[in-house]
Order: sequence, then C-alpha cells, then structure tokens
Amino acid sequence: SLTIGVLALQGDVREHRAMLEQCGVSAVGVRRPEELAQVDGLVIPGGESTTIGKLAGIFGLLEPIRAALRDGLPAYGTCAGMIMLADAIEGGTADQQTFGGIDVVVRRNGFGRQVDSFEAVVDFSPSWHDHFDYPATFIRAPYVEKVGDGVEVAATVTDEQGDRIVAVRQGRLLATSFHPEITGDTRIHELFVELVRS
Ligand code: GLN
Repeated sequence: SLTIGVLALQGDVREHRAMLEQCGVSAVGVRRPEELAQVDGLVIPGGESTTIGKLAGIFGLLEPIRAALRDGLPAYGTCAGMIMLADAIEGGTADQQTFGGIDVVVRRNGFGRQVDSFEAVVDFSPSWHDHFDYPATFIRAPYVEKVGDGVEVAATVTDEQGDRIVAVRQGRLLATSFHPEITGDTRIHELFVELVRS
C-alpha cells in the first residue's frame, strides 16, 4: 500500500495526515532526508512559506526535495505549499527559498488584506477526473498569475479583478491556493492519491 509523506516543518501537518488516512493510505511526517526517501508522494502543507523555506534549509531538506521532485516524486502543495512548488514567486522576500517544480508564477498573499480569508465554492475540473463543486477555504492565499505550457488549470475563482487561478497540475505535481485539509471533504486528497497511483 501507499505511504504519503507530509512535510512536517510547520503548518497544517496533522490535518493533512488525517485526511490522507481517511483516503486509505499511510501518512507519515517528513522532517529528515531519510524519511523523504521512504515515501511515494509528498504533501506540502499551508503555513508560512518563508518559514517553511527557512526550516527546510536548516533541516537539510531543500536540495533533497528539489532532487526528488526532479526525479518524479508526486507532490501536492496547499497554500504556502503552492508557493513552495512554484518555479517563480511575486511578492516573496528577497532570500525566500522554494522547491520549485511547477512552471507557474505565483502571487503571494494575492487576494490582499481586505479579503485575508474567505470561502468560495469552486468548480474543480481536473482533466483526469470528472469535475465537482468543492467548498474551498482561502487564508492569506496566493493565486497563480501565469502558467507555462505544460500546466493544467483545475480551478479558478472570480473576484472584482477578474478570474484568479487557484488550482494547477503539472504531471504528478498538484497545487491549490486553498486548504482542503480543514474542510472534512477528502475529494481533493483522493485526487492526489490517484495521481500518486497513476
Ligand atoms: N501567506 C502565506 C505565505 O505566504 C500562506 C498562507 C497559508 O498557507 N495559509 O506563505
């Protein structure tokens, strides 16, 4: 059976592990390169991307995770995790460390102060699965500003500025601006487990 790791440096680690267990896979925390080597996929939780990047450096995980992603390790990033998986960031700090892997430009804290936090039902339409409505929670969330050729857009939300991309997939890398680990609705985690199995 599958073992999926949850990067356990900072953020919603416990919630992701619980959701993955509900999907019928083993979920383990990943804090060391030896633990990374044991997993079939990796979830990068929400939290604070600058802190996760710093801690990944301190724990010696930056290069091992970059290498694992290059070698095809499936990964799913939520919110700060989306930022960690983006090839480029707008609104990051000067020395911000990320893993990269998805050919997108992500705008950090993109929805601005006045809507720090909000909920929206998004039409989740991945190419590898039937579409469905999903109750999404956004907390100081990023959005995707630009996507490269190999990147599929799976969901958008509309605000006064227009359509914002809030879910993307490239190969077996998935990222959402929102936090499905806190809704009790496991469908996005199930989609990731499907990607890991594929
Ligand atoms: N704003 C946070 C960041 O820049 C992300 C917020 C979140 O993960 N809920 O990392």
